[in-house]
This record gives sequence, C-alpha cells and structure tokens, in this order.
Amino acid sequence: MADRYQQFTRTPVGKFLVPRLGLPNPPTLRRYRPGQPALDGPALLGGAPGGRLEKALTTQLGAIGLDVRTVAADDVRYGALVFDATGITEPAGLRELYRFFHPVIRRIAANGRVVVLGTPPEQAQGRERIAQRALEGFTRSVGKELKRGATAQLGYVGEGAEDATESTLRFLLSAKSAFVDGQVIRIGTGGVTTARAPESWEKPLSGKVALVTGASRGIGAAIAEVLARDGAHVVALDIPAQGADLSAVANKIGGSALQLDITAADAPAKLAEYLTQRHGGVDVVVHNAGITRDKTLGNLSDSAWDAVLNVNLVAQLAVNDTLLAEKVLKKNGRIIGVSSIAGIAGNLGQTNYATSKAGVIGMVNDGAPRLAEYGGTINAVAPGFIETKMTAAVPVVIREVGRRLSSLAQGGLPVDVAETIAWYANPASSAVNGNVVRVCGQAFLGA
Ligand code: NAD
Repeated sequence: MADRYQQFTRTPVGKFLVPRLGLPNPPTLRRYRPGQPALDGPALLGGAPGGRLEKALTTQLGAIGLDVRTVAADDVRYGALVFDATGITEPAGLRELYRFFHPVIRRIAANGRVVVLGTPPEQAQGRERIAQRALEGFTRSVGKELKRGATAQLGYVGEGAEDATESTLRFLLSAKSAFVDGQVIRIGTGGVTTARAPESWEKPLSGKVALVTGASRGIGAAIAEVLARDGAHVVALDIPAQGADLSAVANKIGGSALQLDITAADAPAKLAEYLTQRHGGVDVVVHNAGITRDKTLGNLSDSAWDAVLNVNLVAQLAVNDTLLAEKVLKKNGRIIGVSSIAGIAGNLGQTNYATSKAGVIGMVNDGAPRLAEYGGTINAVAPGFIETKMTAAVPVVIREVGRRLSSLAQGGLPVDVAETIAWYANPASSAVNGNVVRVCGQAFLGA
C-alpha cells in the first residue's frame, strides 16, 4: 500500500505546504544495502567519568570499521553519538548527558544514531539505580526530538557483558535499525554474558537452519528473505491454502516450503519430525504466523477469540515445548516471537489479538531462563504500523493516524521487522535474551 501522503510531501506543492501548515513531514529512511557504509559520518564517542564500557566500546566500534572520534569538532556532521553512561552513579551525575549531547545534538546527520549505554537498574542499588533508570526518559525524549530519520536507543549492558555488545551495536549503528526508535535493549541480563563473533558478519547464519512460520507473504516473507541473505537455509512454513505463494518465496531464496497449519493437533510432532529428518534439527525458530479477528468484546464471537489465541499464542507454545523436549532446537538455538504494540498498549476492537500478543511477551519472560540453560535465547519484536496487506485493509482514517502518530511519521516496511529478527538470530547475539523490542518508529501508542 503506497503512502500517498509521504509521496505528496516530496512534490513541489507538498514541500511548500507541509512546513507552513505544520503538517507531519515523514523523512526518507535509509535502508540497509550489503556493502554500504554503516553510517553517514563519524561516530562521536563519549562517556561519564568512571564508566566501565569505554575500552570495550573503542574496540567494538573499531571492529565495525567506524570512524570513531572522541573530541567534538565544530565542522563535523556525526553519523552517530555514542555515550557510555555506566559511570553515572547518582542523579547529579546525569548532568553528564547534558554536557556531552547539548553541544552536538544538532549536528547529527540525517538517519543518524544516538546510542546511550547504561547499567541495568536492577543490577544497581540506591542512587545509582535511580540514576540509571532515569536514562530511559532522556533517551526516549531524544528519540522524539530528533529529525530527518535519526533515532535514539538505550542499551543496558549487564555486568560482565561488556564485550558482548558488538552484534547489537552493528544493528543499532546501521540502516538495519531504520524503524527502531526510542527502545530499551538489555544485553547480558538473561543468563549468558559472552558472545563470539561469527566467521562472517555478512553471512552470520551460514550453515544454520531457520524456520519461519507464516512465510508466504508480508512480514514473514521478508523475514525469510533476510535470514537467507544472512546465510541460513530457511524452512518457510504456511497453511496449505497459501501453498503457491509459499513455494514462490522458498524458491526465490533457495529454501524449503512446508505446508502446515500450526494449530493442528499433530503440527508440533510433524514439524519436529520434518526438521530432524531433513535438517538434523533447527537453529532459529521465528513464530511469525498470526491472524486478527477484530470486534469489540461485546460483539466478539467465541470462535474469533479461540482462533486468534490459538494461532498467535497456544500453537506457538506447543511447538516450543516439543522442539525443546525432543532437542530439535539445537544448542545455542534461538526462538523469536512476533508480538505487537497492541500487546503492550491494548487496542480498541482487539481484546483477543492484544491478549495473544501480550502472551507472546509472557512467552519471552518465561522462556528466557529455560533457553539460557543451554546457551539459547528467546526474544520478541513488537511491530507497530507496518505496510502489509494486513494494514492495507485498515480503514483509511485509522490507517493515516497509525502511520503519522510516531516519531518517524510513517509506517515501517516488513524488512524493518526482519532486520530486527536477524539481529536476534545472529550467533553473536547470545547475550541478548528476554528482550521485547518495538519496531514502530516510536509510535505514540503505549509505552
Ligand atoms: P499476514 O496476514 O500478511 O501474514 C500472516 C501469515 O501467517 C499468512 O501467510 C497466513 O497464511 C499465516 N498463517 C495464519 N494462520 C496460520 C496457521 N494456523 N499456520 C500457519 N500459518 C498461518 O500478516 P503480516 O502483516 O505479515 O503479519 C505477520 C505477523 O506480524 C503477525 O503475527 C502479525 O500479528 C504481526 N504484526 C503485524 C503488524 C502489521 O502492521 N502488519 C503489526 C504488528 C504485528
């Protein structure tokens, strides 16, 4: 579905009217292309005195190949501003944020990145805990102030996980995170605190097998494509009625097509058998299949309640249980859920859908310690307004509101969700466990 308003803002009339009428002006977001430089400009690295990340950050930003500066200059447009806030141990120290960012914040390039790194508040005590918690308000506000496609995120790095942030920095400090804004990410808080670089950052999933459910179209097809681009053999799964589209996706990426309704009673067993016999197991499981049956609660039929809860939550739990119990999910395996901002904020006409999507967050909370036991992870994305057939069917006014009421003033693309999932799937993201990251352009809906 084309965003006609965004197209209009690029016309001569639009360019004249939009600023004069104070209308939203959606920026053109830079998306990842293999081989492109990660950032449009150098990265400025700063920190509060006494921070514990400086050494690791210098090494990791260097490994990414960024032009890292530590002294601000007047004539530079920065691709990124990265700040180690772990040295802030009391509220008065929060002034360090002002000191670093105030002089340079207006010199961030289009599609630039702000990344603040702190200590997880739950790992700190007293005034340090309070000061670290305060970083969230700062970063989310910066995200709302930045223009021209620039974004801001907060990474909480657990004690001992200082050297495990490279995959996250590569994601955040590149066009792969185009539609992720104002998010809080925890690294090294879900059990594992170490990470090893893959042999190739271009093909981190080389030799891995990834299952993607609901892969015949929309977000699922994009996930399949991105995981294949990263080197995985993708098993693309969808219901038999989507068989033709499913084959087209699988053929395009050199993957396999598997027609299966995940809600069928024997689906977990069939899936386990298929993955074991054909591929000797699975490394990455992406639970993307999902449906909506929207009605306000008083008008909602019991079948619409059951259908949504079954596809979006219950079937996924059954699949996880079987794949874990029968050890089909390999050591260091990844499970990735697809929640929704409706599962965080709630949404009119979506009691069933929001319940199921909040349940996906519960699945992540419950699963993280279980997966950590054998080096695996479970995380979820919570997409906001993404341009797909699902959202093209939304009534026009609600669709316009959904697109515009966010810091980036536009809908995201399926590839934005897929890139976030690929970051979770990366073997180097072993310390990223138990996260729910919104891919929503910092939608104003909910937290
Ligand atoms: P979509 O309807 O285009 O695709 C969903 C796919 O899941 C379809 O191909 C469908 O056939 C498949 N599917 C449904 N039931 C299944 C079953 N029982 N077994 C196997 N496959 C089944 O939807 P989409 O917009 O691409 O959304 C993908 C996921 O992202 C969903 O979980 C959705 O809830 C979530 N999401 C989407 C948005 C958005 O803006 N589009 C926002 C938030 C969350």
